[in-house]
Amino acid sequence: MINPPAQDASRKMFTHIDFQTSAPDLAHAPEDLGREIAFAGRSNAGKSSALNVLAQKKNLARISKTPGRTQMLNFFSLGNDIWRLVDLPGYGYAKVPEAIKAQWQQAMAEYLTQRQSLHGIVLIMDIRHPLTEFDWQMVDWCQQAQLELHILLTKADKLKYGAGQNTRLRVEQNLRQMGCKASVQLFSALKKSGIDEARATLYAWFNA
Ligand code: GDP
Repeated sequence: MINPPAQDASRKMFTHIDFQTSAPDLAHAPEDLGREIAFAGRSNAGKSSALNVLAQKKNLARISKTPGRTQMLNFFSLGNDIWRLVDLPGYGYAKVPEAIKAQWQQAMAEYLTQRQSLHGIVLIMDIRHPLTEFDWQMVDWCQQAQLELHILLTKADKLKYGAGQNTRLRVEQNLRQMGCKASVQLFSALKKSGIDEARATLYAWFNA
């Protein structure tokens, strides 16, 4: 249960969210100060929709989808010069050439392992296709870099309640078996469910 003052504060956290900059690599990222939380996910998993509903801004994440920015790290400031959200390039387009995949891997590994201000990752998975090979790659990097990890099983509206809960338990179990302490929740951008829980995690991480 999320207590009401924390719920209120976690809602207000996004009041002044604004696009800051896009960076092709770490060298072009904003100064490595303060605290960052990054959103990752396979292309089409629902990352943009999740970001938009969490921030209550209809087109916030559209910036990250404009031509030229899709392979970049897109930084959003929360208006206080300390807290940032980062929209990481979607991964896993089947038809992407190997060279591009390798480039993506290198940029991600560099960002996840070297960024001092990075505190945690919110990993978005389509609840119907959780823990793909790419997701495991992210889990692995998070473990190596000792980053917090929170998983949104999104499009939860596509499954019945019981099936959704079973998937959550299964994902949690699989992660535990790999020694990963990630938290896992159901989410739906369409039904706007799971928003308070996700915001509470972000708020706690920023304030940790
Ligand atoms: P991204 O590529 O990960 O940023 O994915 P998008 O946010 O663009 O979503 C991909 C597709 O999934 C779009 O057609 C969205 O409308 C749909 N989608 C995203 N979130 C949800 C959700 O919670 N429920 C349902 N049913 N569809 C969703």
